[in-house]
Amino acid sequence: MTNPMILDGKALAKKIRKELKTKTKAFQKTPGLAVILVGENPASKVYVSSKQKKAKALGWHSVLIELPSETTKEDLTQTIEGLNKDDSIHGILLQLPLPDHLSADDHIPQIVPHKDVDGFHPINVGKLALGWDGFVPCTPLGVIRILEEYDIPILGQNVVVIGRSMIVGHPMAELLLKKRASVSILHSKTRDMKEYTRNADIIVSATGILDLIGPDHLGRHCTLIDVGITRKDDGTLAGDLQYAKLLESPHCKAITPVPGGVGPMTIAMLLENTLKAFEASTR
Ligand code: NAD
Repeated sequence: MTNPMILDGKALAKKIRKELKTKTKAFQKTPGLAVILVGENPASKVYVSSKQKKAKALGWHSVLIELPSETTKEDLTQTIEGLNKDDSIHGILLQLPLPDHLSADDHIPQIVPHKDVDGFHPINVGKLALGWDGFVPCTPLGVIRILEEYDIPILGQNVVVIGRSMIVGHPMAELLLKKRASVSILHSKTRDMKEYTRNADIIVSATGILDLIGPDHLGRHCTLIDVGITRKDDGTLAGDLQYAKLLESPHCKAITPVPGGVGPMTIAMLLENTLKAFEASTR
């Protein structure tokens, strides 16, 4: 039995950031990324600081706008409108979730689509559905890049996506469909997951349910991509996959670890999207 291949998102993300840094040196102007954080969510604070640090390390103009939890709808609208007009900013990211009194549905559409580097604006969601060029959400984009980097075939494969959110599961399925996989989307109301997963060549799990998928779910030589992130009681991070047990399964062809798999790729794709927005602005 050959050991499963470990799909190293951390190393790939590092390679991508190095390429972006080299590209950046050739520009007369500096790409600019603004991240808006509303409130005190500790996980969000960690994510935005990491995004900001990585953008700064490329020599980019990187702005973090921290707004208090009690920020009003009007204040947040003003902040977004200011960034829309700011020529030094090419990408705007509104970190989710927002505090309960604010709605992403109100504020995401306020970001001009050509600066929507998260790919959540309805125009970009529509473009993805139509197969047009636009901004694609960073996490599913990162998953595709991992599969491509490791030469995992997608065309004609049975792919199971677990989770149907507009941030991960839904755009993931659309990207895979665009690459002509046969895609099944499973979710919390799916009656029998194994009915699908045992016929899968690739499983992408994005639920945030710890240890959801184990060796019993596999029936073919299968590539496993873990998007889920759960912080365990001991403070460590883990995903949806029973990683250690799956590593022992003869059906496990390749697998992403958590941490060090999809997470770093999400940030790398955010940086790529920002560069794409910057390049479009200079044309
Ligand atoms: P979400 O809560 O919006 O969606 C979760 C999905 O899981 C839902 O569609 C739900 O139907 C499905 N689900 C829940 N329980 C299930 C079950 N028992 N069986 C099958 N499906 C079930 O979450 P999200 O924003 O899509 O994020 C999903 C996970 O991915 C979270 O852990 C999140 O932290 C993580 N995430 C990671 C990255 C990254 O960069 N690695 C980026 C975004 C999200």
